[in-house]
Amino acid sequence: MDQTLLSELKDSIKGEVLTDEPTLKTYSHDASIFELKPEVVVSPKDADDVKSVVGFVNKNKTKHPTLSLTPRSAGTDMSGGVLSESVVLAFTPHMNKMSEITNQTVKTQPGVYYRDFEKFTLKNNLLFPAYPVSGDICAIGGMIGNNCGGEKSLQYGKADRYVKKMKMVLSDGQEYEFEQLDESGLKEKLSTTGFEGDLYRKIYGLINENYDLIKKAKPTVSKNSSGYALWNIYNKETKTFDLTKLFVGSQGTLGIMTETTLNLVPVKKHSEMVVIYMKEGDIGKLGEVINTVLPFKPESFETYDDNTLKLAIKYFAEFGKKMGINIFSTVLQFLPEFWMSLTGTVPKLILQAEFTGDDPKELMQKARELTDKLKPFNLKVKLGGNESKSLKYWLIRRKSFSLLKDKIKNMHASPFIDDFAVEPKYLTEFLPKLNALLAKYPSIILTVAGHIGDGNFHIIPLVRLEEEKEREIIKNLSREVFDLVFEYHGSTSGEHNDGLIRTPYLKAMFGEEIYNLFVQTKKIFDPDNIFNPGKKINVSMDYFMNHIRRDWT
Ligand SMILES: Cc1cc2nc3c(=O)[nH]c(=O)nc-3n(C[C@H](O)[C@H](O)[C@H](O)COP(=O)(O)OP(=O)(O)OC[C@H]3O[C@@H](n4cnc5c(N)ncnc54)[C@H](O)[C@@H]3O)c2cc1C
Repeated sequence: MDQTLLSELKDSIKGEVLTDEPTLKTYSHDASIFELKPEVVVSPKDADDVKSVVGFVNKNKTKHPTLSLTPRSAGTDMSGGVLSESVVLAFTPHMNKMSEITNQTVKTQPGVYYRDFEKFTLKNNLLFPAYPVSGDICAIGGMIGNNCGGEKSLQYGKADRYVKKMKMVLSDGQEYEFEQLDESGLKEKLSTTGFEGDLYRKIYGLINENYDLIKKAKPTVSKNSSGYALWNIYNKETKTFDLTKLFVGSQGTLGIMTETTLNLVPVKKHSEMVVIYMKEGDIGKLGEVINTVLPFKPESFETYDDNTLKLAIKYFAEFGKKMGINIFSTVLQFLPEFWMSLTGTVPKLILQAEFTGDDPKELMQKARELTDKLKPFNLKVKLGGNESKSLKYWLIRRKSFSLLKDKIKNMHASPFIDDFAVEPKYLTEFLPKLNALLAKYPSIILTVAGHIGDGNFHIIPLVRLEEEKEREIIKNLSREVFDLVFEYHGSTSGEHNDGLIRTPYLKAMFGEEIYNLFVQTKKIFDPDNIFNPGKKINVSMDYFMNHIRRDWT
């Protein structure tokens, strides 16, 4: 960005405008395989600053067509959704305030770290139950931007279910508030003059005209972050219209969120876990095992594989620190896992189902009933214990990606088939076909973890991204895996969203007609393409391949 433009930007806001190399380098990466260097990083002080930056981009867009704005909260995105070659708006430095809790709701700015948010809500015995596994490193803006889900989504659903209101700065540079409207509220908006009225008229028209097509396009999986959730906005039966459903999960491509009001749920007091160990030869039973566990309605049903467990065993001392216990107690806790490692009996897959409630006896009874029901499968099944005893299992599950990323130095943990979802009823048929596909690439080491109850798998291959041949695998293997996912009506992304990595597959997932509706939606909200370009629509496979990260310093 030239100096005149930079000075104009600096003069238009109260927050910082940064162009120093270390800052630009930090903001060139997220948790994805991509690298895009921004020209400028702006830290807005408040919503007025956000409005001013949008105004600045609008004013200069004709002369500088590549100018755009990409909102960033904590930057833990695994899809490249937060990367930009123009202006990044960073929310964690200043826009990180939240309100007191009233009626189980809380108002928060996008830059609040979830770890701080959760400490605050837990003090009030309340929880945002769609929190992601990355809860200790991510922030609210990105959780909403991605429509995050996590270990409790099997019972509670994803972020979109808990968003009551959103304040958004839209492409005219003004801030608007959105929430669910009833029939009269919608009528009022449709007759409003100006930008807001136009917007409601256009998006209502688009949905109304294509109502059946849009409703049919809703993915049947229990978790989806792919595409624009047009199917959740308007309900002709209940006569409700809610644009927050569209903004949640839109990855900052339709506008910038400056505040949201979130609903919270009461925390359940107790838990009881059932741990299921599956050997290599048992994997054929996985689909049936999942379908046996699900009717018991666990709050969470999660999984991780042998490679994850082996890493956890190697770095067991770090888990002890996280658990707040001394090294002696840590060794005792990990004795069963050490034994598995020594005797070569590390299971291929570990499944953990957790029941929660307020009566520990009832939970124990449920866990025992499930254990009995699993007997015909002839698997090792263990009661993992209550909340404190089961912490070890939770930490292994939650740390699976970080362990890979931080501990394996000569290969890169590469999320590109990291988030697909397939309805559990298809898994018995789907999983052997998936295994056959993965077996075509014997040089690749994989780890598998995920929210197995939702059929949402996080497969993370370790790839030498510096090598051209291995980069090609990303393109080929993801195509093959996604084709299989589509054969079973699945989604490329249960929660991590499209970003750069999955946007190229949106047309294949939803078909030409729906993809065109996505394009029209983007045009309605962002006619000049100023918000986070190249995400959700319009990114070529060449652009994707050319921006795979090379710099690992
Ligand atoms: C180890 C690990 C585990 C993970 N586990 C999960 C998981 O279980 N579930 C899950 O859903 N995700 C998971 N993720 C992905 C990611 O951490 C989450 O989606 C998280 O919610 C993103 O939050 P963030 O603050 O880091 O977002 P960012 O990376 O900053 O942004 C994410 C997206 O939201 C947009 N955005 C950010 N702020 C705004 C704003 N103010 N207005 C509009 N758009 C905005 C960005 O442009 C971007 O497209 C994981 C990531 C890692 C590294």
